[in-house]
Amino acid sequence: MSRLLSIVRDDVRALAAYHVPDASGLVKLDAMENPYQLPPELQRQLGERLGAVALNRYPVPSYAGLKAAIRHHMAIPAGFDVILGNGSDELIAIVSTACAKPGAKVLAPVPGFVMYAMSAQLAGMDYIGVPLRADFSLDREAMLAVIRAQRPAITYLAYPNNPTGNLFDLDDMLAIIREVGDTGLVIVDEAYQPFAGTSFLPQLPHHPNVVLMRTVSKLGLAGIRLGYMSASNELLAEFDKVRPPYNVNVLTEAAVEFVLEHASVIDAQAEAICAERSQLLQSLAELPEVECFPSAANFVLLRIQRPGLTGTDVFQRLLQHRVLVKNVGKMHTLLEDCLRVTVSTPQENAVFMSALHSSLMS
Ligand SMILES: *Cc1c(COP(=O)(O)O)cnc(C)c1O
Repeated sequence: MSRLLSIVRDDVRALAAYHVPDASGLVKLDAMENPYQLPPELQRQLGERLGAVALNRYPVPSYAGLKAAIRHHMAIPAGFDVILGNGSDELIAIVSTACAKPGAKVLAPVPGFVMYAMSAQLAGMDYIGVPLRADFSLDREAMLAVIRAQRPAITYLAYPNNPTGNLFDLDDMLAIIREVGDTGLVIVDEAYQPFAGTSFLPQLPHHPNVVLMRTVSKLGLAGIRLGYMSASNELLAEFDKVRPPYNVNVLTEAAVEFVLEHASVIDAQAEAICAERSQLLQSLAELPEVECFPSAANFVLLRIQRPGLTGTDVFQRLLQHRVLVKNVGKMHTLLEDCLRVTVSTPQENAVFMSALHSSLMS
């Protein structure tokens, strides 16, 4: 067997598998899922719609109807198209594969989204992580210096950032985009845009090196796996050659079309989550043992700051109260004793707050 396994790349064998904890029986606040489903009447209509889909046929690879719906919903500027992925994870992999020339580099601020580094490695690219400042803002000078010295083919900016939840300063982002110029791409990842109240989209036509990426995952559709990205047509045409032709399945296609026809429902859910986020931040601000960071996403990042009590202690105590959050304390030194918590329904947030109270006391 070991001879057989030696066929697999050494760096792949050295990887730890992406770990997803078992959440059965737990209040699940670890993965930025929208807690709301579609209302029953829409569920019924969706069932009918999906039942009629021609499962015997391959998808039509142009995905014209779905792309038109997305361009409309997203208000994509005239002259810009989108391409679709099986989640943004696949789009990140597609861009990496397309740009993975020998020696090509990938740059991202850290702590950041784990898939950027993962995808770079799997594509054989060198990954450079530049630490954020202690307040999680971009270290503009450090980023610019790396760009000048290393000329990364891809630079990621998550707007807002995961796991810190903040929006980067637009001037910092523009300085980075200008410095990259025509020597690389800047991927602006707006996975959390529905909760951010702002977008980089209006800037897109002014920056031919920018790729804007979004997903329906945080909007209540994490299970159907759809991401999309927009950029100049010339770039999209190249990425499209790397995309597996039938990468988005017909059920996902039909489901997203249906949900976008009822966009007011998911928009209202996002609004409710934003209101709950304010509530949650207010309650957390009253706890002296907790440092809480501003959030433009559907999660909050907090730091346990009671002497003798670590983030991991609190994480485990929360689990004993059947609440699952994400322990990000070991991800990066800037996140020491930090936990990341999805904003959920008023009921689940109350369960979390009460579990947190108990966990801080004992
Ligand atoms: C959650 C998340 C995504 C979403 O990936 P999908 O594959 O579309 O579910 C992308 N980028 C960031 C920064 C995220 O946090």
